[in-house]
Amino acid sequence: MNWSHFQEKLIPAGYSESDQEFIRSAFEFAQKAHEGQKRASGDPYFSHVFEVASNIALLRLDARTIAAALLHDTIEDCNITQADIANKFGKEVATLVEGVTKLDKIRYQGVQRNVESIRKMVLATAEDVRVVLLKLMDRLHNMQTIAHLPEDKQKRIARETLELYAPLAYRLGIGELKGTLQDLAFPVMYPEEAKWIKEQVETRVPEGRKYLEEEIKPFIEDTLLKDNVQPVAIDFRAKHHYSLWQKLLRSDMDFGRVSDLLAVRVIVRSIEDCYKTLGIIHQLWKPVPGRIKDYIALPKPNGYRSLHTTVFCEENRITEFQIRTPQMHEEAEYGIAAHWAYEESGKPKSGARARPQQLSWVRRLPEWHQEIGNSSDGEEFLESLKIDFFKDRIFVLSPKGEVFDLPEGATPVDFAYHIHTEVGNHMAGAKVNGKMVQFTHKLISGDAVEILTQKNKKPAPDWLTHVKTSLARGHIRAALRKDAELAQHAAHGKQREKCEVHIVSKNRVGLLKDISAVFDFYRISMQNVSMSTHNKTYPAITVTFQARDHKQIERLVTRLKTIENVEQITVKNPG
Ligand code: MN
Repeated sequence: MNWSHFQEKLIPAGYSESDQEFIRSAFEFAQKAHEGQKRASGDPYFSHVFEVASNIALLRLDARTIAAALLHDTIEDCNITQADIANKFGKEVATLVEGVTKLDKIRYQGVQRNVESIRKMVLATAEDVRVVLLKLMDRLHNMQTIAHLPEDKQKRIARETLELYAPLAYRLGIGELKGTLQDLAFPVMYPEEAKWIKEQVETRVPEGRKYLEEEIKPFIEDTLLKDNVQPVAIDFRAKHHYSLWQKLLRSDMDFGRVSDLLAVRVIVRSIEDCYKTLGIIHQLWKPVPGRIKDYIALPKPNGYRSLHTTVFCEENRITEFQIRTPQMHEEAEYGIAAHWAYEESGKPKSGARARPQQLSWVRRLPEWHQEIGNSSDGEEFLESLKIDFFKDRIFVLSPKGEVFDLPEGATPVDFAYHIHTEVGNHMAGAKVNGKMVQFTHKLISGDAVEILTQKNKKPAPDWLTHVKTSLARGHIRAALRKDAELAQHAAHGKQREKCEVHIVSKNRVGLLKDISAVFDFYRISMQNVSMSTHNKTYPAITVTFQARDHKQIERLVTRLKTIENVEQITVKNPG
């Protein structure tokens, strides 16, 4: 696993000297960062990074993506920050690595109704399609080495691969990768079925391959050449096990109804030759009605192009043919990655970002939702259209890895109320990606949000001005209303508390009447009035009463002091 081994993979793809130097620095940086780390298999951790980056090189992605592949696990596992990577390898590489790190935080729960939003989240979080490609290659190697993990972990990862990553690979047009991922997950998820399919394939395919190789291939080669069509290659494609099983499930487990267990793939130079080849095949053998598919004129939503036909071949054996050009073949193998691939000259395309293709891919997303959304109902599909390709939605994570779908501009307060009303009502603080943030902080897709709560915390009225969701707003209003009612109750409670006022005054006629007039003025009822006549000239009058609050008592006392002959007033408030 030294540099020269890796370089061997770069040279055939035609990476320039300077690209190779750049990749080399990332290679050495990652090798050092993972030094001493081991995988579950006992292999050095770097072997994983090496394989992922090799596969990225196989897709012939740009040098920065290869560097990102080499560095993809350094942030998580090696105390290296995004800033370190940005300083050494530039912002673009750092963004790609950060994207993969963010995707790793998505914990797939396998809850059916969540699948759709997780798929959306993966796409929205990735932002750059290259991040999804990196994640797919990471997953591919993890699936290849899954046997070393405990069984429950194997099941979780396999399920996630079948339901989340294989459909993503298909969507990116990387049909081969989709099939490979499914076939790796198949025996983990359905051991018995996978074993049965494997046995069936092992008994059926070799004989079929022999027949095609010996009888059909030479025959068709000759005929094409006679008609001036130069075949680039004629080979055979065996159906992937998982997709074969899926097809059998739809065909009452009847192998007789699966005609493409093995298909003949004819690669010719031009589109014109494709149609010519189709005509030649149909002249040789009778086509099965309804099985001719022109994916050149009408490509599949993921961009797949080819001509397919199924014919009654020699000995009446039903055989499928796939006809395509080398470019179509490349696109079928590499999918969207083919658009980043090097031009024929061996030099990378300028800009390497291939914006137009990326956009056309995004435009096809609704079709994708339709295709893979069999499990989700029509309403969900409409919902996914409504969000206008995530432009006004964000997807954030709880500490448990659950995905929350919020409108753009949503704050931690919105998030808190989406977790639980009580979490919102007692929110004391928020952490985003491990750092404390303000309540007004605007969340973005991929943020991991943690809400801190305290029993005595309550919503503040100003929260209403910065929350985005009606859910949060409604709960805050309800909490504020409840709080105001409680405050009123508390005030009522105080009123019931007894106060005593002692008034020392020179005795005179009408003194008590004047005092009670002051109490009347403040609408305070005197509950008990007593007069101590210990000193007959200066009697002490004690009045017990209930006041609303302290201010009311102050006002009362001030006014009592204005009564003629009153010398001294003291208040005792037992509350
Ligand atoms: Mn990894």
